[in-house]
Amino acid sequence: MKLSIKLLASAGLLALASSSALAAVDEKLRAAAEQAQPAVIESLHDMVLIESGSGDVEGLKKMADYTEARLKALGAKTERRKTTKGAGADMVIGTFEGTGSKKLMLIAHMDTVYEHGILDSQPYKVDGNRIYGPGIADDKGGIAVILHSLKILNDAGWRDYAKLTVSFNPDEEVGSIGSGEIIAELADQHDVVLSCEPTVAPPVAKNESLLLGASGTATGTLDVKGKASHAGAAPQLGRNALIELAHQLLQTQDVAKSIPGTQLNWTTAKAGTVRNQIPDHASAGADIRLTIRTACKSCRPRWTRR
Ligand SMILES: [Zn+2]
Repeated sequence: MKLSIKLLASAGLLALASSSALAAVDEKLRAAAEQAQPAVIESLHDMVLIESGSGDVEGLKKMADYTEARLKALGAKTERRKTTKGAGADMVIGTFEGTGSKKLMLIAHMDTVYEHGILDSQPYKVDGNRIYGPGIADDKGGIAVILHSLKILNDAGWRDYAKLTVSFNPDEEVGSIGSGEIIAELADQHDVVLSCEPTVAPPVAKNESLLLGASGTATGTLDVKGKASHAGAAPQLGRNALIELAHQLLQTQDVAKSIPGTQLNWTTAKAGTVRNQIPDHASAGADIRLTIRTACKSCRPRWTRR
C-alpha cells in the first residue's frame, strides 16, 4: 500500500489586512466608481468574448495581450513570465512605483473552467440588471475590478505605495500548477496581497467583505497492490486489492480530524477491470484542505503509520 500526498500550489488568498476599523466612505471615489460602471461593463464584455480555458493557450495569449496593454495604458511597467508547468501560457505582471512606504500586490486569473467553443452555447448576454458570460465572475470580474480601481485611484492622484504589483496568471483553475511558485515568491516581496476572486456568495457572507484567508488544497492518493487470480476457479490464490483498499479507507477516513488545520475526504476510487478476476490493484483519491502552512508535514507521518 502506498499513500502519497501532493500539494497543489494554491493561488488562494494570501491576504493580510490591518485590524483597524473601516475607513469612512470617500464620496469622490464612490462617485468615480459609479461613473466607471459602463467602462467596467465594456471591459467585461471584451474579456468574456476571449475564450480562455486553462488549456487554451491561444485564448490565454489574447487575454495576456489584452491585460498587458491595459496595464501599460495605466502606466505600469509590464513583463510576461512563462509558467513552469502545464499548458505553457504566460503570466502578466505589471508594476507601479509610488511615493508611499508599503508594497502591495493584487492578483487575479485569466483562465476559466470552460472548454473552447463555450460561447456558442453560452454567449455573452445582458438581462436587465444582470450580465452573463463564461468566466465573467470567476475571474474576469476580478481583473476588471483591478484595472478600473487602479484607473480611478490613479486619476484621484493616489500613489501611497512604494510598489504596487499586479499579477494575472493563466492556470488558477488547474491549481496554479505553473504559476503558484512564482506568485508565492512575488507575494513574499510584498506587505499585503489581495486576491481578487469573486465576492463570497451572500449565504456565506452577509455583507460585502474581505476574506482574510482560504485553505490551500492538496491531493491524497492511496495505491494498493494485491495479487490477481480467477474469482471462480481459485479465489484463494489471489490477494484482493479492493477489499484491502476498503479497509484502508475506513482506517484513514478520520485521520485528519485530530490534526489542526487539515481536512481530508476520500472522493474517488477505482479497482479491478473484469468481474471474474480478483483485482490486483486498487486506488483512491482524497481531497485535502490545509489552513496551516505546516499542516501537510504533520499529516504525513500519521497517515503512513495507519
Ligand atoms: Zn477563480
